[in-house]
Amino acid sequence: MQIDNLVVGAGISGISAAWELQKAGKEYLICEASKKVGGCIATNRNGEFLWEEGPSSFLPKDEILSLISDAKLTDDVICVERKLPRFIFYNNKLNAVPASVLEFLTSDLLSFKGKLRLFIGLLGFIKPLPKHEESVREFFTRHLGYEVAERLVEPFVSGVYAGDIDCLTSRAVFAKVFKIAGKGILLPGIIPGLIKSKFSRHNKSKKILNPNMPKIKRGKLCNLTNGLDSLPKALIKVMGNNVRLNWQAIAIKKTQEGFVTTFKTEDGLTEVSSKNLILALPAYITANLLQGIDFEAIDNLNQIKYPPMASVITCWDQISAKNAPIGFGFLTPRSEGIRSLGTVFTSALFAGRCPSGYRLFTSFMGGATDSQVDKLSANDVAQQVIDDIAKCVDIPAQEAQVVASKLWSSAIPQYNKGHLEHLHKIKQAQKKFTGLYLIGNYFSGVSLGDCICNSQESIKPIL
Ligand SMILES: Cc1cc2nc3c(=O)[nH]c(=O)nc-3n(C[C@H](O)[C@H](O)[C@H](O)COP(=O)(O)OP(=O)(O)OC[C@H]3O[C@@H](n4cnc5c(N)ncnc54)[C@H](O)[C@@H]3O)c2cc1C
Repeated sequence: MQIDNLVVGAGISGISAAWELQKAGKEYLICEASKKVGGCIATNRNGEFLWEEGPSSFLPKDEILSLISDAKLTDDVICVERKLPRFIFYNNKLNAVPASVLEFLTSDLLSFKGKLRLFIGLLGFIKPLPKHEESVREFFTRHLGYEVAERLVEPFVSGVYAGDIDCLTSRAVFAKVFKIAGKGILLPGIIPGLIKSKFSRHNKSKKILNPNMPKIKRGKLCNLTNGLDSLPKALIKVMGNNVRLNWQAIAIKKTQEGFVTTFKTEDGLTEVSSKNLILALPAYITANLLQGIDFEAIDNLNQIKYPPMASVITCWDQISAKNAPIGFGFLTPRSEGIRSLGTVFTSALFAGRCPSGYRLFTSFMGGATDSQVDKLSANDVAQQVIDDIAKCVDIPAQEAQVVASKLWSSAIPQYNKGHLEHLHKIKQAQKKFTGLYLIGNYFSGVSLGDCICNSQESIKPIL
């Protein structure tokens, strides 16, 4: 088969790239190894239960809202109230993350000294940027003090990256904060930086991506009435004959005209020749495939680690769960001795997730600080999660029901120290192959919105 544009991988990155090609009227094919689309997006249903084993919500970035509008799912967007509290389990109790100055001043999360240090640091009275690449912990300790780093930032990076605060690089994980903090007026801190960027931004008007997209305030968290997988499913339906499922790319060759990709399919091996080849795959799979074309940055791709992580979905009846507060959920700093990373109070966020009279929770365990999670049995992981919820929320472990669990053997790419150098080498190597495009969540953010932005930006030259 001969085609202009071949997209390999139908996670959100591949689908959004293919959708751009579809809208531009280009000839394309999108091939996916598994029998379903969406990649990490993993919505499941059983009776009145509906749960997410992968991403559980998304931030309303314009790019994802625009895609939702294209998929005709605007009316399906459901949002969490911004005021719903988030909790951190610290000092044997759930502490609401302060959402106002008053809440902050009265919060037990930081000591008086910790609060003072935060204010002084915010104003910019900090040590200068060191010569070495700063980890996320080093960056926030320097700017806001060790209590903020340990009790607020560390649980946050566990929640988003399942990462290790001592290995993740601040330059990539908190790229915007890093940039702002280095640009302050007179002083180098976060507030002086914010003031400066506010001044330099005030004339720029924001381009409206899609006038039909849902209007949602920044900071809210969203999902779709029938779960996140409705988005890839709706887009793929429109793509129709341009989609191949159960097609696993196993080899790539370079030819004068472009590339030949070999797929393992239910009907045997098939070759597809294409002028442009868009690989929307995890870095380690991309590395494997690119061995066939002498790609110079295979090692750099392989250096990006994806530690394992388990998602466990549990439910309690309302009476047993009466002590569970209404809120977004809780995160657990590693220092508190709780093994799981955190729990989302799923049914308190989105309607239609479980039968009435029940509360549904989604918990995560594993990641960079607990990479042995894949050595445990599914039962042991579920039991650990139940015991952790029972302890943090004070509800009876024996009343828990396990709805589902999933082990992601390679979950989220870690933007560890050295990540930006790896990306630089990968991009340099890519430039040597006209028509080769590498996209995915290892480039410029792991969130669904970031993946979509990265895809749209990367494939602009072929639209
Ligand atoms: C447990 C978990 C929770 C998360 N929570 C959130 C959240 O709440 N909010 C948020 O915004 N983000 C969250 N994320 C991150 C986000 O889901 C991912 O970063 C994003 O979905 C990645 O999309 P992708 O298309 O780049 O990669 P993937 O989703 O990994 O897609 C790659 C696709 O390529 C296919 N493939 C692999 N090999 C081949 C091959 N050889 N040939 C053909 N196809 C192949 C795979 O089957 C897959 O479909 C979470 C991720 C995980 C794992």
